[in-house]
Amino acid sequence: MQQPFPTRPFKTHGGAPVPHHKNTWQAPSVVMPPPARVVIPMQQHIGAPCRPTVKKGDYVYLGQVVGDSDAYVCAPIHASVSGTVAEITQVMLTGGQMTEAVVVESDGKMEKDPAIAPPAPITNKKQLADAARRAGLVGLGGAGFPAHVKLNVPEGKEIDTLIINVAECEPYVTSDHREALENGQNVLEGIYKVKEILGVHRVLIAIEDNKPDVIEKLREIADDPQKDPQDEVRVLPLKSRYPQGAEKVLVQACTGRKVPPGALPADVGCLVMNIASVSFLASYMRTGMPLTLKRVTIDGSAIKEPKNVIVPIGTPIQKVVEFCGGYKAEPRKLLMGGPMMGIAITSDELPILKQNNAILAFDAQEARLYETTACIRCGRCVAACPMELMPTKLEKAAEKKDVEALLSLDVMTCMECGCCAFSCPAGRRLVQAIRLGKSYVKKAGGKK
Ligand code: SF4
Ligand code: SF4
Repeated sequence: MQQPFPTRPFKTHGGAPVPHHKNTWQAPSVVMPPPARVVIPMQQHIGAPCRPTVKKGDYVYLGQVVGDSDAYVCAPIHASVSGTVAEITQVMLTGGQMTEAVVVESDGKMEKDPAIAPPAPITNKKQLADAARRAGLVGLGGAGFPAHVKLNVPEGKEIDTLIINVAECEPYVTSDHREALENGQNVLEGIYKVKEILGVHRVLIAIEDNKPDVIEKLREIADDPQKDPQDEVRVLPLKSRYPQGAEKVLVQACTGRKVPPGALPADVGCLVMNIASVSFLASYMRTGMPLTLKRVTIDGSAIKEPKNVIVPIGTPIQKVVEFCGGYKAEPRKLLMGGPMMGIAITSDELPILKQNNAILAFDAQEARLYETTACIRCGRCVAACPMELMPTKLEKAAEKKDVEALLSLDVMTCMECGCCAFSCPAGRRLVQAIRLGKSYVKKAGGKK
């Protein structure tokens, strides 16, 4: 049954009025020349790591598979340059875990794998999911969840709404903004294909209202009666309030449906895809070229020339920063992702991964730690929590390592958005405490 289109977003709980700092939204993306070597980790997605399918000394083409696995929740990994495998080594990922990596010395030719060809026309769900897997597609908005798993909607679950996530609510990050402006037609091609194959009659392109140019551009294309005669693809402007782009918040803002704890959007009839992911799918169906490039926002007070850069996956961060003029101040904090949910990294030698949408570098002034004082029981953290949790109680339970209390307070529902800490006048490090709390629960075997 066709669902009605909302004329305005539904109300969501909490959130935080974070500053936008979208410094790079107006500048066209720049393509970076391939580096001399790329380091391609075998874990660039949620799920099982890949194993290298090449060995030291092998010649690899651009787009050739260099890592794969039989595991279902996994996505193959492809060479992002042509050249010779210099070594198979170990690299440390952001969470501190080690993984294998294929290091390729580029021959500078970017010679494409001769086996690459557009896939045969896709007419059903299985073919669509298979194509997404072959392309190595993972959620490009930062989550890194293998796209074929998401597209392979389990029997018995009916999707009536496809939501395209263009909220991009994190400060600084503008890579999706540029994707929409530079590749709008491609984005819509991808949307029409996914919509057709999944048989969805309501598509909502959800964009925060601080991006009027994107709203206008995508409306213009989405209103094409040739492509969308039934007007089933529409733009829905959202209130600019972090974290509108978080999957569960987005589902609620677009449909009024709440995704229960431990459930997925598919459980309430929704499929959420990032704009860059649908756009990439359209390119893949046209060319057969798997995922080897990524658009990344490079910004922060320590970066000389902030910009959006399109880089081969596996390019060391320091090379991308050099391409942006280098550092203008000593970087005291480096983040993969935005300042709210990004992960702090200890070295710029790490490579750009599939799911990276931003690298931010901050100087001493911006990276300073706020003083923490005692909780004044103001309740602002509770009011700010989009998941309607009790962050202050979670912090206390985590301090006491009280797994039972952590579970009764639903700690695993926390999406680590940081709204509570942002709103706290006492500067409590609530997210760090909650993360620790989650680790105690997992250790105790109580993961929900
Ligand atoms: S408790 Fe978790 S979900 Fe709630 S505001 Fe804090 S970080 Fe976000
Ligand atoms: S916002 Fe901070 S000070 Fe206020 S109740 Fe929460 S933890 Fe305590």
